[in-house]
Amino acid sequence: MRLATFLFHNTPALGLVHGESVIPVPGLSMLDVITHGETALPDLSRIARPPVPFDTSTLLAPIPKPKRNIFCVGLNYIEHAREGARAAGRELKLPSVPMFFTKATNAVNGPFNDIPFEARVSAQIDWEVELGVVIGRRGKNISAAEAMRYVFGYTIVNDVSARDLQTAHGQFFKGKSLDGACPMGPWIVTADEIPDPHALPLRCRVNGVTKQDSNTNDMIFKIPALIESLSLGMTLEPGDVIATGTPEGVGFARKPPEFLQPGDVVECEVEGVGVIRNKVAGL
Ligand code: ZN
Repeated sequence: MRLATFLFHNTPALGLVHGESVIPVPGLSMLDVITHGETALPDLSRIARPPVPFDTSTLLAPIPKPKRNIFCVGLNYIEHAREGARAAGRELKLPSVPMFFTKATNAVNGPFNDIPFEARVSAQIDWEVELGVVIGRRGKNISAAEAMRYVFGYTIVNDVSARDLQTAHGQFFKGKSLDGACPMGPWIVTADEIPDPHALPLRCRVNGVTKQDSNTNDMIFKIPALIESLSLGMTLEPGDVIATGTPEGVGFARKPPEFLQPGDVVECEVEGVGVIRNKVAGL
């Protein structure tokens, strides 16, 4: 099942995506379905309205206003860790536990909306295609063996990063949390449709040129390990999103470094989930 949040008669509504059309489900939000998944979902066919033609410009982030920050994982692909070490001129040291950080909720942006750009704020806006895991059940101290039962579904996250701010502030939060710096979507694909989330090709293109081209099987810490580690002593809630890290090919590590400019179009694709496409504003 593909569940989207979209503007229906100018109001955010839940939608069930079917090929070229979407069935509006008024009265329920994405968070309602995630929270009450097992009971709300069977009702969808009963309360659903006739499909309307699908228009990507009406799509919002699947969870437009998450209750909590987006959880992220740094250095979760070996080649990305390697390129980062090379660019910084230090030795490669792989993390022994996941490196978690978060993005502020106001960073969440639609899958086809512009990414804000202000040169005086940051001149080093970078891309990061990532598989996003949406948590479906409350849980704490979840074991890796049980972890996948807590996954509601998957989405795509572009973990847009202001590298100069990341460096200047000595901590990721500010540079990862600018307004609009978390395009997400285009929808949530429920977990039953993706039997193996660790076998998904993922790519990022800038103006049609492929910059990142990898596979989720390259993750250092797989989803069960991430959930086990994150939930240790810390309760996860339905609707929490974990961006699982980005593969190699980010802008700052390229020679010479590349950063997004006004007018650039960034596409992030995860096979089996979809594509999101965002223009950098300012032109
Ligand atoms: Zn990231």
